[in-house]
Amino acid sequence: MKAIAPSPADRLPALLQQVFGYDSFRPLQQDIMAATLAGLDTVAILPTGAGKSLCYQLPALVREGLTVVVSPLIALMKDQVDQLEAAGVAATFLNSTLDATEMGARLAGLDAGAYQLLYVAPERLLAGDFPRKLAGWNVGAIAVDEAHCISEWGHDFRPEYRQLATLRERFPGVPFLALTATATPRVRDDIIGQLRLREPQVFLSSFNRPNLSYRVIPKGKPERQVWEFASARPQDAGIVYCQSRKSTEALAAALRAEGIAAVAYHAGMEAADRGRNQDAFLRDQARVVCATVAFGMGINKPNVRWVIHSDLPKNIEGYYQETGRAGRDGLPADCLLLYSRGDVMKQLRFIDEITDEQAHAIARSQLDRMTEYAEDEGCRRGHLLGYFGEDWPHENCGGCDSCLSPRETYDATLECRKFLSCVFRIRQHGGFTTGLQHIADVLGGGDTEKIRRWKHETLSTYGIGRDKPRAEWVALGRQLLRLDLIRQSQDGFSTVALTDAGRAALKDGRPFLLARPPASLNDSAGAIAKAGDIPCDEGLFEALRAVRKELADARDVPPYVVFSDVSLRHMARGYPADPDSLRRVPGVGERKLADFGGPMLEAIAAWLAEHPRQSFPDLRAAAPVARKMKMENEINGTALATLERYRAGVGIDAIAKERGLAASTIESHLAKAVEFGEKLDPRAFYSPAEEEEMRVALAGHEGPELKSIFEKFGGRISYGQLRLFAAFEKAGPRS
Ligand code: ADP
Ligand code: MG
Ligand code: ZN
Repeated sequence: MKAIAPSPADRLPALLQQVFGYDSFRPLQQDIMAATLAGLDTVAILPTGAGKSLCYQLPALVREGLTVVVSPLIALMKDQVDQLEAAGVAATFLNSTLDATEMGARLAGLDAGAYQLLYVAPERLLAGDFPRKLAGWNVGAIAVDEAHCISEWGHDFRPEYRQLATLRERFPGVPFLALTATATPRVRDDIIGQLRLREPQVFLSSFNRPNLSYRVIPKGKPERQVWEFASARPQDAGIVYCQSRKSTEALAAALRAEGIAAVAYHAGMEAADRGRNQDAFLRDQARVVCATVAFGMGINKPNVRWVIHSDLPKNIEGYYQETGRAGRDGLPADCLLLYSRGDVMKQLRFIDEITDEQAHAIARSQLDRMTEYAEDEGCRRGHLLGYFGEDWPHENCGGCDSCLSPRETYDATLECRKFLSCVFRIRQHGGFTTGLQHIADVLGGGDTEKIRRWKHETLSTYGIGRDKPRAEWVALGRQLLRLDLIRQSQDGFSTVALTDAGRAALKDGRPFLLARPPASLNDSAGAIAKAGDIPCDEGLFEALRAVRKELADARDVPPYVVFSDVSLRHMARGYPADPDSLRRVPGVGERKLADFGGPMLEAIAAWLAEHPRQSFPDLRAAAPVARKMKMENEINGTALATLERYRAGVGIDAIAKERGLAASTIESHLAKAVEFGEKLDPRAFYSPAEEEEMRVALAGHEGPELKSIFEKFGGRISYGQLRLFAAFEKAGPRS
């Protein structure tokens, strides 16, 4: 029995299935949609690949009027509209690539209310008589995608985005939804302020990307290493980020010479060449793109299976964004960083040329953070998330080199004592300290100009390390630096001295256990866990890819517009034989079933006529780690942070203030925690009388949408209270 008329939000699950072919929401999607459909301003901060687009696309199908999507790049708009059209959604875009006839037709369609979604660039939105037209199109919601572009603190500031500030006044009654994958508080506050959002609901999820694996290996010959990596994955698309334009072209040429379809991409290329190369990559014609960081935001390609940084990135933000372009589809993807001290030195030389004192200091500290990441012997995922202020409470992430092949430890007492005494002797001898390289020379018994000048061949530690290659002494020195046993001067000469701890260690003769240097590329190549993996008949998968490519080429769209790799893998493990079973494959909605179902079913039948049917373990059983991580993702990020503060006795308003979030957001975090089994006292949130009132009002109410009930209370009871009450009810009687 339904006491209340169904609200639009109740229709979302059915439409998710029919139109997009998915049977469940990703974390936070439904909460975000409910908030915007309730007419609230909303901010969604979710990592790349989390499914932000759906947060405005699906509500657009149930909402009165037109949903306007502000998007920064022409390529991005076209891509999304192609995907929506393939799913049968009435969507369009307006930008400078359209000729007058096409533009006229689309404007007429908008006048006639023929579209549910309109994508536009920010500068167009406010130019000429466009605002007047817009006012006539019954705008029901405004979504600002890549909203960090509005902030100078972000990594992609676009001045055009600043003009959006006036939108709020023009459309006072229309809910805004801002979406971004940039998590820093400064950018978030800037988005809220610049867009003039009103008491926005802020949704912030964990930034962990469970399906990405992280690895750092010593950089040798990068061309060789990239080739080795790419040829070990002959079907997979990947991006290689290089520091210089020249090296993108050299690397692409070298890979092509070895038979790998690679292209280059950088800002110095002719626009036409750049566009062609990007297109080749999106359309699975080029498998590898060697690019500078100019290659990025416009790239919606979901099946990028790996990202290699062949040079050290300048900072961790950039590194996280660039690696984030791998594995948007949720299937496993690998991120590899080739690391060398030489790269650090090279960047230090660049940084030294920065004359502005503040800019110099920032660049230097960013490089230090990046170096710490590369040299860390602990969990890489934990390191990255920690950098963004997120807690990663797990011992082993199951998806980074440190966690998967923990480095062997060995007794390094003798070497360490040799090194430390050498540092001590040098200082004692001349009253000054020297650099790491020189210490290695002394240990190795070298014959250098400095050794002769300073008479270091007379030291008792001279030549006591001849048994080890010089590079190993340098590496050992770095480990001792990290252990804080020695310290480098900050005067630009980086000379090395013992710390108090180092002096003490030398005196008390304690043993040292150290980790062996990192494994090489091949040692751990096969060992990375595959969170998000969907085991399937690889032969059939390849056959389906070929069919998909034909369908895509015929429509002149990239293959992922037809079906994602996830859909194909499901087809290649379930062997659907008729439209009904094909419909159950994730990503197959009604329109795609009608348009592309036939050829896929034919290909599967043809395959089975010649090959045996294979069977695969249940996906849930196959990936317990991935599943656990997914669950933890849901509670871990922001809700967990709230919960911890709450458990520590901090009140809701105080937490809200502390975290810069609305009180109702804090309440919904606590509601989530209750749903996950946290035992809280309802009396802290509402009185017995209020509880009874809510129970009566909610009796017979179905679906997650609480707006109508909220309105009935006329503000006496908050959204947060309603959510908490619903959560307590859902969690069942407390024991
Ligand atoms: P973002 O903008 O957050 O980086 P996208 O909107 O591009 O992410 O979505 C990433 C991928 O996830 C797309 O391939 C999309 O189809 C898929 N996706 C989104 N929502 C769901 C869902 N509920 N179930 C399955 N796949 C989804
Ligand atoms: Mg997006
Ligand atoms: Zn790890």
